[in-house]
Amino acid sequence: MDSNANLRRIPSMDALLKLASASNAIERFGRPAVTKALRTIVADLRNAIREGRNAPTGENIVAAALARLDADDQSTLRPLFNLTGTVLHTNLGRALLAPAAIEAAMVAMREAVSLEFDLDSGNRGERDDHLRFLLCKLTGAEDATIVNNNAAAVLLVLNSLALGREAIVSRGELIEIGGAFRMPDIMARAGVRLIEVGTTNRTHASDYDKAIGPETGLILKVHTSNYRIEGFTKDVGARELAAIAGRKGVPLVNDLGSGTLIDLTRFGLAHEPTVREALNEGADIVTFSGDKLLGGPQAGFILGRKSLIEKINTNPMKRALRVDKIRLAALMATLQLYRDPDRLSERLPTMRLLTRSQREIDAQAQRLVPVIEQALNGAFNVSAVACESQIGSGALPLATVPSAGLALTPIESSGRALATLASALRQLPMPVIGRIERGSLVLDLRCLEDETGFVTNLVGVDLSPKGWSDDEPS
Ligand SMILES: *Cc1c(COP(=O)(O)O)cnc(C)c1O
Repeated sequence: MDSNANLRRIPSMDALLKLASASNAIERFGRPAVTKALRTIVADLRNAIREGRNAPTGENIVAAALARLDADDQSTLRPLFNLTGTVLHTNLGRALLAPAAIEAAMVAMREAVSLEFDLDSGNRGERDDHLRFLLCKLTGAEDATIVNNNAAAVLLVLNSLALGREAIVSRGELIEIGGAFRMPDIMARAGVRLIEVGTTNRTHASDYDKAIGPETGLILKVHTSNYRIEGFTKDVGARELAAIAGRKGVPLVNDLGSGTLIDLTRFGLAHEPTVREALNEGADIVTFSGDKLLGGPQAGFILGRKSLIEKINTNPMKRALRVDKIRLAALMATLQLYRDPDRLSERLPTMRLLTRSQREIDAQAQRLVPVIEQALNGAFNVSAVACESQIGSGALPLATVPSAGLALTPIESSGRALATLASALRQLPMPVIGRIERGSLVLDLRCLEDETGFVTNLVGVDLSPKGWSDDEPS
């Protein structure tokens, strides 16, 4: 049949829209979207027919339109299995919220709430009041305020306490923590002049002492979240720095980064200074994140001296950086869990994942070996292996937690086998993200709680090279 005859065989738009499958599509996506998708498919088809292709049936055309609408409908923010071994993975959304926090957030989404309304007096209330009491009780702080994230907390503190003046920072603490958060840039945008003291590896008390003058707005101590300077080093501890700051009447701000409300050694993890300790050491202000070790939603906490918090709260920038009712509700529910530290490792997903024992995870790995073997169809060697998880997000940067997982190693090492397998795992209905390490793709199972979901995700899947489609994205 010639192409003109084939073109004439394409059903009319009216005919296509009358098909039962089109009615179903209209039910789901609406008539305008279905009509538009059909027009696009038909236009593409006309070109293909002119190049010699045969006309497909009306049903085929509707199916193609439906597939396109389905693909457009899929959210780009997809749930996935984080098997990277990094528990608080910034690119994968950091902390998972506790059920109590999710519940509280849902109520706040659904209902009007007393966000800035005092139910006792009937007068206007303060948004921060909901968390202030709890935060002060948990940390011993005099006062507290909450903003969008810790980057905002640092920006707001600098701008509120040192605008047009100087902030003193050790050269060993001028961090960049990814996502373009570089301390010198933040300082500039906050309208603060950065005064660097000491050297990269060594900063002494006298360096700070000499730098403090009439223009000093504050001293900033920064948690070196994602690196350690080792060897011939010296830094000035928070307590000593607080004494210097106190003598000169300059506030000391300590950016704790992740921050933790409880001593992590009770969970067998390395020690990370707690917020209470940092305040006890004499910091006038401490800042830390809501979605790192604390295990809540994204937020930035600013705790410390009442007079300074008042100053921060009256900065017009505070209004631009405040948190919404949904996160406030989730934060409150998360913080309430800290009133019973003994049960945190059950109730708070971050702690639950960090404290899973290597034994338990290894048993899970053994159970999953045959499941993965089946999906890989003999193309890879699968073994349960010991590995090391990281906390992530700059908490205890060098500490790792013994874990276990699955190492998938190509039987014949072809150069691209691992990258292609990693890509195939990312294309699963629920993408699986591992890490490539020394010639294997390692799936660290520390964060795998939904084992049934993981197995179901692989049912009938062929992850072997035979199953890789030709147009596999590279
Ligand atoms: C993570 C971190 C920040 C930024 O915190 P966000 O909550 O991601 O904005 C700031 N300072 C330090 C030291 C950090 O580790």
